Amino acid sequence: MNTKYRIALLVLFLFALPTFAQPTRPNIVFIMTDDHAAHAISSYGSKLIKTPHLDRLAREGMRFENAFVTNSICTPSRAVILSGKYSHLNGVPVFNHIDNTQPLVSKYLQAAGYHTGMIGKWHLGGNNPNRPNDGSPTGFDYWNILPGQGAYFDPVMIEMGQRKKLTGYATDIITDLSMDFIKKRPTDKPFFLMYHHKAPHRNWQPAEKYRKQYENYEPPIPATFDDDYKGKSDASRNATMHIDADLNDTDTKGKPPAGLSGAALKKWKFTRYMQDYLACVQSVDDNIGRFLDFLDQSGLAENTIVIYTSDQGFFLGEHNFYDKRFMYEESLRTPFIVRWPKRIKAGSVSKSMILNLDFAPTFLDAAGAKIPADMQGRSILPLFTGKTPRDWRTSMYYRYYHPGHHNVAAHYGVRTSRYKLIYFHKLNQWELYDLQKDPGEMRNIYSEPSSAKTVESLKKELQRLKKEFKDDDQFADKLPADDVG
Ligand code: CA
Repeated sequence: MNTKYRIALLVLFLFALPTFAQPTRPNIVFIMTDDHAAHAISSYGSKLIKTPHLDRLAREGMRFENAFVTNSICTPSRAVILSGKYSHLNGVPVFNHIDNTQPLVSKYLQAAGYHTGMIGKWHLGGNNPNRPNDGSPTGFDYWNILPGQGAYFDPVMIEMGQRKKLTGYATDIITDLSMDFIKKRPTDKPFFLMYHHKAPHRNWQPAEKYRKQYENYEPPIPATFDDDYKGKSDASRNATMHIDADLNDTDTKGKPPAGLSGAALKKWKFTRYMQDYLACVQSVDDNIGRFLDFLDQSGLAENTIVIYTSDQGFFLGEHNFYDKRFMYEESLRTPFIVRWPKRIKAGSVSKSMILNLDFAPTFLDAAGAKIPADMQGRSILPLFTGKTPRDWRTSMYYRYYHPGHHNVAAHYGVRTSRYKLIYFHKLNQWELYDLQKDPGEMRNIYSEPSSAKTVESLKKELQRLKKEFKDDDQFADKLPADDVG
């Protein structure tokens, strides 16, 4: 071989080396909506709505049927996702701003060489960027957030500390900004984007197109709509999130027709609620479609992990409720769909129990970064093979704190694949459900003699989990003040 060839081969080898030594790390897009129940997505079997673009994501990826949150409410769930820790350790049990000096997954990914962005609803503070540690996003190369809950129409957004009023519908705007973030990124780095919608949060203001499409829509009534809470704790009765008693004129965008009362009024309120809620979801679905098309056109689909989830589930009339908070299924469960063409077989479904606590470790694992020992979740990457590791969790720990809004009594509990035990500790009342026989959670079997053994073993498991996750009742007596708007 002559010298010229030798040099050429050497050059080729040196250029090829980094490709072999360091496979291209995937981009990660984390799409999260606010209050989008899994049972308002058609691929989850919804009878309420068709969501073709979310269904496309599920068809091309993996849909998780048992994704749960550890504290079913906006601000706390977001802190769990960013920190990989339960509320009692990340310091955000209620609507209080996050201590943004603590380690967060965004900071770990940034340190691992990712270009990081946070766009849309943050809801962990950041309303007063002049105050240090005000809860504004940290660990992000670029951020542009709604202040507090944000507005559906012509929203103000805070871009890296600067307030700007934008024109248009929030769901469209947040998608546009997310695509801009990707277009403007440095292409020599993988990116991590948190693309967070405000929709379909209360008070459910749809885009005009879908408001009109849904104005005569008659939603099917859920099976547990007329739950009278007989045999249950006082928590459901005391809660102020009932369809009939608590949906107000702002929620229904006007007063009910004169003369309506009782069951007819309840049905009217439910119908108005569902029309607007589903119309908001329809815009989300459209925008997910637009975003997926954009990834295709940019040539990014193949090496980008796309996740779709919500900060928690939501009641769509079940148990006469709207809102979330309770450990009951509709609120505890959140949608979770992930597409990663290189690693996930299209159209797969996982029944393994995953938690929002697992998201941060999962991002780090996918990025090839070390998962800090103090994160409490577990990477779900092994589940992408379609198999469940033998030592995967078979129970989960839940704890809700907020005493104020909607008057839902604080509670904690454990859910296994078959049972759910809930302790409303301030009321000193228990509930136990057999999810196999009673998936609608209508019959509290806690006090039935035949439940004694189950109660005993679940109480043990509850204490074990509480200990494992270092819940020493840190916030049992004194909660931080709500300050995130
Ligand atoms: Ca929420």
